[in-house]
Amino acid sequence: MSQSLASAHPISSYLQADDLGPWGTYLQQVDRVAPYLGSLSRWVETLKRPKRILIVDVPIHMDNGTIAHFEGYRVQHNISRGPGKGGVRFHQDVTLSEVMALSAWMSVKNAAVNLPFGGAKGGIRVDPRNLSAGELQRMTRRYTSEIGLIIGPTKDIPAPDVNTDERVMAWMMDTYSINQGSTATGVVTGKPVALGGSLGRREATGRGVFTVGREAANNIGLSLEGARLAVQGFGNVGGVAAQLFVEAGAKVVAVQDHTDTLYEPAGFDVAALQAHVKRNGGIAGFEAGESLDPAQFWEVDCDILIPAALEQQITEENALRIKARLIIEGANGPTTPQADDILADRNILVVPDVIANAGGVTVSYFEWVQDFSSFFWSEDEINARLVKIMREAFSHIWQTAQEHGVSLRTAAFIVSCTRILEARDLRGLYP
Ligand code: NAD
Repeated sequence: MSQSLASAHPISSYLQADDLGPWGTYLQQVDRVAPYLGSLSRWVETLKRPKRILIVDVPIHMDNGTIAHFEGYRVQHNISRGPGKGGVRFHQDVTLSEVMALSAWMSVKNAAVNLPFGGAKGGIRVDPRNLSAGELQRMTRRYTSEIGLIIGPTKDIPAPDVNTDERVMAWMMDTYSINQGSTATGVVTGKPVALGGSLGRREATGRGVFTVGREAANNIGLSLEGARLAVQGFGNVGGVAAQLFVEAGAKVVAVQDHTDTLYEPAGFDVAALQAHVKRNGGIAGFEAGESLDPAQFWEVDCDILIPAALEQQITEENALRIKARLIIEGANGPTTPQADDILADRNILVVPDVIANAGGVTVSYFEWVQDFSSFFWSEDEINARLVKIMREAFSHIWQTAQEHGVSLRTAAFIVSCTRILEARDLRGLYP
C-alpha cells in the first residue's frame, strides 16, 4: 500500500499520538509508563496497537416500516493474558477511537486486578432513548450476530456499559446461543441472575469504587464520617457508590447527570434520589437541592469527587477549580493527562479508573467462573472475594507509586503493563 493510502486509512489515523480523543489520552499514558518497563519496553508498541478491530453495519426494521443502519464496533486490544473482556456501550457519541481506548483500558484494568483476561470493548453509535423496546432488541440481536465471529466464552466476553443492562445481556446471550446451537451462558456477563448471572454484579462497580476510595481516604488521613461528596453520573456506578459512601457516614452534596446539576450542602437523601432517577430517567425535578449551571459542578465545596459518567470530563479548564482532596474515577478515562498534571501539582490524589472501577469486571470474572462450573456462590461470598481482590490490588499499586515516586495512574500502568508484556514475552511471536 502506498504511503498516502496508508495514512488516509481511518485506522492508521487513530494510531497517532496527537489524537485529542480518548485514544490519544491512552497513548500518552503508555508513553508515561514506558521508562519503567525495563527490558519489557521492547514490547511497548504492542500496547499501542489493538490486536483486532471489527466494524459492523447493523441494519434493522424500524417500527414505522423504514430500515435504519447503525455502526457497531468490537475491538480486542490485547489477548496475551486470556480472552478479551469488556463492555458494550450504546451511545450517540461512540466512535472507533473511543472504543479502542476503552478496550485498551480494559487490558490495563484486568491486569491491574490480575484477572486472567485481555482487554476488549464494543459499542454502537446510537441514542437508545430514541428506540422502542422492539427496535432496541432487534439492534442488539443483529449486532451480536455480526460480532459473533469473534466473541465467545473462551474468546471475548462482552458485558454491560453505558446504556446497556442485564436485559441487553440476556438478548446477547440468547442470540449467540441460537447461532451456536447450544446455550452458552458464559458468552456475556452482567446477565440476569435467572440466566446464569451473578449475585452482586449490579452493585459490583460501585462497591469497588467505594472499597478503594475508603482505602485511599484512609491513606491520606481523610475521614469518611461527614466527608462531602460530589458525584457526576448517577447511574449504575455513581448511584451505588454514593449509597455506600453515605452508609459509611459521608454525605452527597452535589450530583450531576445529563439532565441537571444539583447542589445541597446539607446532603441529599440518596435513596430518594435513586428512586426519582428510576421513575424519571434523571435527577432533574428532584425535590431537594439548588440547580446549578453545569460548569459550576467542578467548583463545589467537597472533599471527594467521583466522576462516574463519561470520558474527558476533568480537563485543563476545570482541574484548577476542583476543591476535592481525593478524586475516585468511577468512569473510564474521565481525566485528561494535562488535568492529571495539574491535579498532581495541587496535591489532589487521583485513584485511577483502571483500579477504581475494576469491581465490575472482577464480579464479571466470578460470573464467568460460576457459569463454567454451573456452581453458584452466595452474595456474601462474592462481596468478600471482591473486597479482598480490590484491597490487595490497590495496596500493591499504592506501594508501587511510593517506590517509584509516581502517580497512582502511572503505578497502575507499571503493574499492569509489566504483567501484559511479560505474558506477551513468554508466549513469544508466531511464527
Ligand atoms: P449508566 O448508563 O448507568 O449511567 C451513566 C450516568 O452518566 C447517568 O447518570 C447519565 O445521566 C450520566 N451522564 C451521561 N452523560 C452525561 C453528561 N454529559 N454529563 C453528566 N452526566 C452524564 O452507566 P454506568 O454503568 O454507571 O457507567 C458510568 C461510567 O462508568 C462509564 O464511564 C462506564 O464506562 C464506567 N464503568 C461502568 C461499569 C459498570 O459495571 N457499569 C464498570 C466499569 C466502568
